[in-house]
Amino acid sequence: MPSPRGVKSHPCLVINAGSSSVKCSVFDLASDTLLFKDEIERVDSIEGAIGLIAERLYQAGHTDIKAIGHRVAHGGEYFRDAALIDDALVKIIEEYTPLAPLHNPPILAGIAMTRQHWPDVPQVAVFDTAFHQTMPPCAATYAVPEAWREMGLRRYGFHGTSHKYVMLRVAQELNTTPVQLRIISCHLGNGASVCAIERGVSVDTSMGMTALEGLVMGTRSGDVDPGIFAYLKRALGFSVEQIEDVLYKKSGLAALSGLGNDMRDIEKQAAEGNAKAQLAIEVYAYRARKYIGAYAAAMGGCDVLAFTGGIGENSATMRSRICDGLEFMGLDFDEEKNRQIKLEEFEVPQLQRPGSRIRVMVTQTREQWMIAQETGRICKREGIDDG
Ligand code: AMP
Repeated sequence: MPSPRGVKSHPCLVINAGSSSVKCSVFDLASDTLLFKDEIERVDSIEGAIGLIAERLYQAGHTDIKAIGHRVAHGGEYFRDAALIDDALVKIIEEYTPLAPLHNPPILAGIAMTRQHWPDVPQVAVFDTAFHQTMPPCAATYAVPEAWREMGLRRYGFHGTSHKYVMLRVAQELNTTPVQLRIISCHLGNGASVCAIERGVSVDTSMGMTALEGLVMGTRSGDVDPGIFAYLKRALGFSVEQIEDVLYKKSGLAALSGLGNDMRDIEKQAAEGNAKAQLAIEVYAYRARKYIGAYAAAMGGCDVLAFTGGIGENSATMRSRICDGLEFMGLDFDEEKNRQIKLEEFEVPQLQRPGSRIRVMVTQTREQWMIAQETGRICKREGIDDG
């Protein structure tokens, strides 16, 4: 299929295999255009979903896929960058699967199936954890026995693709390079994390060994006292599986509000006086503000506070609540701009008043696009790019 500018097209398929759905997109890397997008919900099996994707791509005329990029949740300590998939790499991801028992298995099944469907197409793994491998030991280390640390207990961080995209987009918008900036990137979606990006590298992030640590999320608790685990088991008789299930799926905004995990419903109810919804919003905003303050301290300052993800992009009320009280850092927030912004065509509006020491910027995250870019970069680096 020719690209719009007559350049030879370079279609890159991006697969994001989750436990309840498989998202796929096709980007033409030559013309930087989205050619195809689909999501298969509530998959019976990943294999079936990939089969369906292959069929739909065929029907839509996308028979010339040149590269495939996979979102991989956990790459452990080994992967500091995206990497070309081969048998050895799959083995290493399998070894890290105990660290991501909910996330890595569907991804591995997806990789196996796409390798069967497209055996001659180069495939790249893009890790959520890789961007954070630059964290210094003081930020990545849990204060637990050495024997535990040797077994992989450390902070890894997630949402790396999104935080990296935010860093690049913010720098581009400001006509500078990431090395000139200290950015606090807030990815506030159903999953949520904050990242301290100092001069182009992640130096701390709120998710840890698993995607449970840190901010309050849609259904995940974020930070809790680790002492809770023993109490729940010993005093209340919960099993490890029950505790894990509750902390991942029945906590967070959903548990606090009693209304589910959709911030729109919670904000609506809070505005109508629902006390549980109000508390959910207060806990959510306070936790985020606390991390922002901590990361400004970690970097010795902050130039840009960036918001992304469904809540970060769309909830002016939440952005306002989070920024309320950050004046001490030199943030002069413009509430009017905050209410008026419209995110179109990947624009990056700024929400501070003139003279504010910190810029507040909002951008739509583009994880799928970023995975396609990373896939293209790795293929080029490995000398297998014919685009
Ligand atoms: P994500 O995981 O990035 O798709 O984000 C999902 C979250 O974004 C959900 O909690 C939604 O309720 C929230 N969200 C989407 N649109 C809005 C909006 N207009 N106002 C508030 N929250 C929103």
